[in-house]
Amino acid sequence: MDRRQFIKKSTLLSIGGLLIPSTFLSACRKETLFEDINYDGKVIIIGAGAAGLYAAYILKSKGIDCQILEASTNYGGRLAKLTGFANFPIDLGAQWLHGKNNILGDLIKKSKTKITLDDSKLKYWFNNQLVNSLPQNTDIFEGDELPDISYQDYALQKGLGNEYKYIVENIAGDQGAAASRLSVFGNNLDEENWNSGDDDFKFQETFFDLIDTQIASQITDKILLNTIITKIDYSQSEIIITDSNNNIFNANKVIITVPITVLKSGDIQFIPALANEKTTAFSKIGMDAGMKVFLKFSNKFFDQNIIGGEICAAYADESIGKIQNDNILLAFIMGEQAEYLTTLGSDAAITAALLQELDRMYNGQASTSFIASHVQNWTTNPFVKGAYSYSTVGMGDARKIATQSVSKKLYFAGEAMNTNGHHQTVHGAIETGYREVINILNDIKK
Ligand SMILES: Cc1cc2nc3c(=O)[nH]c(=O)nc-3n(C[C@H](O)[C@H](O)[C@H](O)COP(=O)(O)OP(=O)(O)OC[C@H]3O[C@@H](n4cnc5c(N)ncnc54)[C@H](O)[C@@H]3O)c2cc1C
Repeated sequence: MDRRQFIKKSTLLSIGGLLIPSTFLSACRKETLFEDINYDGKVIIIGAGAAGLYAAYILKSKGIDCQILEASTNYGGRLAKLTGFANFPIDLGAQWLHGKNNILGDLIKKSKTKITLDDSKLKYWFNNQLVNSLPQNTDIFEGDELPDISYQDYALQKGLGNEYKYIVENIAGDQGAAASRLSVFGNNLDEENWNSGDDDFKFQETFFDLIDTQIASQITDKILLNTIITKIDYSQSEIIITDSNNNIFNANKVIITVPITVLKSGDIQFIPALANEKTTAFSKIGMDAGMKVFLKFSNKFFDQNIIGGEICAAYADESIGKIQNDNILLAFIMGEQAEYLTTLGSDAAITAALLQELDRMYNGQASTSFIASHVQNWTTNPFVKGAYSYSTVGMGDARKIATQSVSKKLYFAGEAMNTNGHHQTVHGAIETGYREVINILNDIKK
């Protein structure tokens, strides 16, 4: 799961005691922004994932009245923790820190959170065999003048035939996408913008714990759970927000951090309706199906990473980086493979399909040593509906348009709204929460 190739340096600076991603300094008039804030309006944040939690954390620390309205029973969004399944805690959502040159790297240092470099070894399932390396170079998706076509088409163009299909699915799957939908041009541009560092790290505890202890725990009084927002009426000077039980909330500014799938689905009605240009931009941002399945075995018959399965293109030893070592294999399933497994309809059927594939790879050892599974299907979570955003073919500057605020009342954050190449990540989501607080403060001061 080595997602990032480009290494650029970024630094963290502190403004008024808060850690700020350097990416936004040019936009934020750093000396004056947080001074003399005298705002008695109310900011409501929709969604208590990383972006929403961080936005509330900054607003609260600056004495601005704010509240998070969260649809589900827990905060964290695509960060969630599973205990009791293995003898170590498991991240059901985000689990790798993709590079340390970002605000989370700093939080980790400050909080003395233990992380380990993930340099685990890869094996490929290729032509019905497990092999250490591939005959052809698959490193073809980066460079200059790449076309705006799909990974699937480009691979074929470059001579990676059908035998590479699931190797290519794995490469696209790291971006949360089906190879038939991820843009070679768009993703390459995203990678060029990436400046968090190219190493992946795992948490000895969990990613969820970091966000919980360092951010969420400071603002629990601001989070209202079980509150599914269905309508945002910004036609008057005060914004009226309605939930599924017809409860009404009033605000002067709203930061919307729900996943792009939720915005695309129309689950939240805007009054007046958002401009066509904006909804078209939403529709161009990709976000495919995604699930994680944790398989527990009585012995470790499997390799650290197995790439290229037809049912699951990426398996990984979940115990890497943990103190305890229960034999847990993670099936990391994205795109069309996640769509297919979702159609099977039950956790038992999904588990059976994966065990069958692993039996083929390891001569029946999976079934004989299988103990239990835990299926986390993010696609069927009604408030997430998929994995994370990616750049589709023909997307153009949709992300920039999607992100623009509306009438100085609606502000858009969340990983899909990150325009600096850090979408798909927790730190990227956090950066957008911060950016929209800055945008609000700028609008207030104008
Ligand atoms: C399987 C998987 C693996 C991943 N792995 C990694 C990784 O290793 N490293 C990494 O950095 N990132 C990873 N990510 C991505 C990362 O989890 C996300 O980028 C990040 O957590 C998104 O935060 P967010 O605040 O933008 O959105 P979310 O966390 O999705 O938060 C949005 C919140 O809005 C709420 N909501 C939705 N609709 C409504 C509504 N109508 N009313 C009120 N609330 C609503 C949702 O319940 C949710 O809590 C992974 C994601 C998945 C799914």
